[in-house]
Amino acid sequence: MKSCVISGISGQTGSYLCELLLSKGYKVYGIKRRSSSINTERIDHLFDHPNLELVYGDLADYSSLSSIIGDVKPDLFFNCGAMSHVKVSFGIPEYTMDVTGTGVIRVLEAIRKNSPSTRFLTASSSEMYGASPPPQNEDTKFHPCSPYAVAKVAGYYATINYREAYNMFAVNSVAFNHESPRRGETFVTRKVTIGATRIKLGLQNELYLGNLKSKRDWSHAADTAEAMYKIITADSADDYVISSGEMHSIEEFVEKVFSKLDLDYKKYVKFDPRLLRPTEVDALCGDSSKLRNALGWKPKYTFDMLIDEMIESDMKLATNEKLIKDNEKKI
Ligand code: NAP
Ligand code: GDP
Repeated sequence: MKSCVISGISGQTGSYLCELLLSKGYKVYGIKRRSSSINTERIDHLFDHPNLELVYGDLADYSSLSSIIGDVKPDLFFNCGAMSHVKVSFGIPEYTMDVTGTGVIRVLEAIRKNSPSTRFLTASSSEMYGASPPPQNEDTKFHPCSPYAVAKVAGYYATINYREAYNMFAVNSVAFNHESPRRGETFVTRKVTIGATRIKLGLQNELYLGNLKSKRDWSHAADTAEAMYKIITADSADDYVISSGEMHSIEEFVEKVFSKLDLDYKKYVKFDPRLLRPTEVDALCGDSSKLRNALGWKPKYTFDMLIDEMIESDMKLATNEKLIKDNEKKI
């Protein structure tokens, strides 16, 4: 049976990759790190799957990575683990470099020493382009604007270096923003769909946001996971941009979500300067024609389908919350 290891399996994209690889008949080993509370909710629905096994490990801990890779000798390794929040990276830059940057080198070294035929993909990021204006593709110059982006650039080049130095199948997916109902609650899209649905049901009155003028290229994380699988199973090792090719401002996203709920966002959205970043990435819009032409990738989700799915899911959560609150009042 073919096997794969996913770091960051408890995260948004790792959870979609897990579903995808299980559906393709792989034995999936997921690396989770020790936490004082249970944080596997994105993969809890797969818990009883006979081909899923969770193992403890940490990108900051070479010995755990080396043991896992040495024991499993997987066909594929997806490196989705990271300290993935741009704003947070300004507060913990050294830790971010350790986990998000050096973590890539730890996995590459563990593969080189224990299982050199394992194919490796790391989840690089459009944040690496930073201040380089759109459209961005595989040839665009990097100009990282955060400790997170600097760490991703380090991981990107480490991956190419291992490919060139040791002839390993080591590749980068350079994904633009991807979202879903499983997106972390402190990223802007999810913050907005949670906030707007709660406002709709009277559970909150205001939503505090930062810069609404920046622009992003948003895909669905399930489409991104499909693309990652195509990239790691391609005939030859290469790096690819994954993107929708559509760019929208944060304000457009907010306006769309609120208007789908028949709300005027201007009445509820407030500005909090604490949410601004020391350096902002103004505009990201990916040109993924290399991936589309060479590997035949095409996203299934449109921008509207993505938003509708996120609203529907968060509306269910808000409805349950309201039911509990209403019942509490009756007791
Ligand atoms: P996410 O939801 O934040 O998930 C990050 C995952 O990394 C979580 O499973 C987390 O575990 C794990 N992790 C954090 N620190 C770790 C450590 N020290 N050792 C092992 N695992 C650790 O991120 P995502 O949206 O799924 O993104 C997946 C990957 O793609 C990340 O590398 C991210 O930087 C990159 N990326 C994301 C986007 C995007 O728009 N989503 C765009 C480009 C690139 P816990 O659950 O324990 O926290
Ligand atoms: P990023 O592209 O990886 O930084 O993804 P985010 O979802 O964290 O941020 C996307 C954009 O939304 C950035 O330009 C942020 O400055 C902007 N933004 C505005 N308000 C907020 C907010 O309240 N939270 C977050 N996370 N981003 C915000």
